[in-house]
Amino acid sequence: MTKRFAQIIIDISHEKVDRTFDYRIPPQLEDRISVGVLVKIPFGKGNSLRKGYVVGMTDHADYDADKIKEIAGIVEGSVSAESQLIMLAWWLKEQYGSTMNQALKTVLPVKQKVKPKEKKVLRLLIPEEQLEAVTAEAEKKSYKARVRLFKALKENPVIPYEVASGQMNLSAATIKPVIEKGYVALESEEIFRNPVKDAGGRVKAVDLNGEQQAVVDVFCEDYEAGKRETYLIHGITGSGKTEVYMEMISRVISEGMQVIVLIPEIALTYQTVMRFYGRFGNRVSIINSRLSAGERYDQFERARGGDIDIMIGPRSALFTPFSRLGLIIIDEEHEGAYKSEVVPRYHAREVAVKRAQMQNASVVLGSATPSLEAYTKALRGEYRLFSLHTRAKADSRLADVAVVDLREELKDGNKSIFSRQLQQMIGDRLEKKEQIMMFINRRGYANFVSCRSCGEAIKCPHCDVTLTLHKDNRLVCHYCGYSIPMPDQCPSCGSPYIANFGVGTQKIEMMTKKMFPQARVLRMDLDTTSKKGGHEEILSAFAEGEADILIGTQMIVKGHDFPDVTLVGVLAADLSLYTPDYRAAERTFQLLTQAAGRAGRDARHGDVIIQTYNPEHYSIVTAAGQDYENFYRQEMAYRRLMKYPPVNVLFTVQMASKSEAALVEAADRLAAHITPQADEEKVQMIGPVDASVYKINDIYRKILYLKQENYDILIKIRDSIDCFQQEKSEIFKGIVVQYDFS
Ligand code: ADP
Ligand code: ZN
Ligand code: ZN
Repeated sequence: MTKRFAQIIIDISHEKVDRTFDYRIPPQLEDRISVGVLVKIPFGKGNSLRKGYVVGMTDHADYDADKIKEIAGIVEGSVSAESQLIMLAWWLKEQYGSTMNQALKTVLPVKQKVKPKEKKVLRLLIPEEQLEAVTAEAEKKSYKARVRLFKALKENPVIPYEVASGQMNLSAATIKPVIEKGYVALESEEIFRNPVKDAGGRVKAVDLNGEQQAVVDVFCEDYEAGKRETYLIHGITGSGKTEVYMEMISRVISEGMQVIVLIPEIALTYQTVMRFYGRFGNRVSIINSRLSAGERYDQFERARGGDIDIMIGPRSALFTPFSRLGLIIIDEEHEGAYKSEVVPRYHAREVAVKRAQMQNASVVLGSATPSLEAYTKALRGEYRLFSLHTRAKADSRLADVAVVDLREELKDGNKSIFSRQLQQMIGDRLEKKEQIMMFINRRGYANFVSCRSCGEAIKCPHCDVTLTLHKDNRLVCHYCGYSIPMPDQCPSCGSPYIANFGVGTQKIEMMTKKMFPQARVLRMDLDTTSKKGGHEEILSAFAEGEADILIGTQMIVKGHDFPDVTLVGVLAADLSLYTPDYRAAERTFQLLTQAAGRAGRDARHGDVIIQTYNPEHYSIVTAAGQDYENFYRQEMAYRRLMKYPPVNVLFTVQMASKSEAALVEAADRLAAHITPQADEEKVQMIGPVDASVYKINDIYRKILYLKQENYDILIKIRDSIDCFQQEKSEIFKGIVVQYDFS
């Protein structure tokens, strides 16, 4: 049936996106009106013509159909970035389940009433000897932030202000006196227009090695031939993926096209962004989550206006309004941060492929440890696969990895968190004045119970995920609801040494200081980085050699090069293995591989020690051997057996409410309603079960899991859940239902 009315938003930069107006679609335009089209409409009392975007179409108008005005015409001309993004929003809504409003808010930054900021740069004004003198003076006075600025200026005499206040976390209070003393100038963009002259020493590209060049050649040939594809670069840490991206970018922008580069926030450090500035100068802009909505809007305005060709940022940079988009790059493609945790819960990889399709662009994914999703697609031929097997830098080679069995340590009477081998190596590196990273791969709270004698964690007999210890001393499965009282001995070996397994970074710091009182120790975790400037400050202090040992969670493994690190210790590899999540082994493999990649970045020999209670576990064995293919094979066998993604699509329906009774009732009714359809469509349904944290802020949450190979079938089920909610609105009063596909 034809849709007779269109919902239109007028001037998206000013109106709230949820303010839509209904217009009648005249018969002669029926074929040409669709979501995203820019139309002319009579508006207001005088019926002056204004422009607006179609964001939805319907058979029934909200009010009196006779009074509804008609669309006057279509604005001819090329399709704008806004139109594309609105079409993309429609796809997000359909694909992931959300309202059009939520989808529009995801793709369109809303204008804030702020004065637009000019793009500014900090430029060094004094000669090098003087810079060294003032640096020394600042060091003496322990002006840490100022020292950081001076050292950065030494490498890059021009630093974009957004990087100084963003990645470098310098406050105005640090920058102002330096300007007043005449050491640096704050200049507006105009002067920064000549990037090649200004951007410092690293402007010239490196000479790519054979492996790198081969990838770039294929990409460029395809690009020239007008072939647009999705490529996956599987390249070991340090294989030079970033240099490959930059070469591709340079090719694409030389044709007047634009590029989006996604880098996870945690890897978007000063070092990383300056590599791009060094090469592309002011054609680059960067966004990060610390920007206010207004600042983000300004960056997007610049992109829209054609002032920049390259936007770098985390997930949300995907929606940069480029109308001549030629390439989207997603670095560290496997990172969990690419999945949105708010509705619509999209995955950046999928949206990038969709957006690229709409705008005739290519997509390049890169990772040392590709997600199972991406690698599977590459093996099936949906993505084109490239591999980089060697480290790019001359002299740099992969570290030696040793796996230490903590059960043996306990047997031999060593109850410390450091194995004897690790203790000995730490001592050795401290003596040689080399640096050490100590890494604990904990994600969130690891509330599982495991045995220190045999290494087994207590798992659900039905789901193969660990049981979670609750306050009432019961172990509960969050996938199926199975529960048992906390046992007092290990179900596998009978040992009494079973406990809630959770060591924090703070405790490790304490124990390190106790065992190695001579060592200077830095700690990086959520506590120490939450204050402004924390993240960059700690990393640069360590890079400057202000400490011997850096202790941290996974946030220490990315984005910075530490050439003096020759030892990486992973204290308890099992911590990420036993989180109640079917991706636990994949995360463990990724974290261990990344951590191992930190050691041996230059000619000196690097060592990695992985301590574990499960030395035989395939994720640990394969990470130690840097053997991705082997890991992939074994992990896929498990996913196939359990019908987990990417073998099946997992559709999660989360219901939340302040009233537990109402929630239980609604969840049960919904499950009962879906069951016949699920049976008929061969959809496996589990639940409703309690969410892994059942109650947050007095809101209770229940989950229904649905598994099927075919995404479309699950979308049909989602649509009938939507209908059921509308029909039975009395049951769903006060209950929030959210969807997630993975
Ligand atoms: P990845 O992104 O794969 O981890 P990078 O692109 O960061 O790798 O490269 C790792 C290091 O090797 C960087 O210091 C980079 O400058 C250097 N490098 C990359 N390619 C080359 C090359 N062809 N010749 C010399 N050095 C290179
Ligand atoms: Zn045991
Ligand atoms: Zn279970």
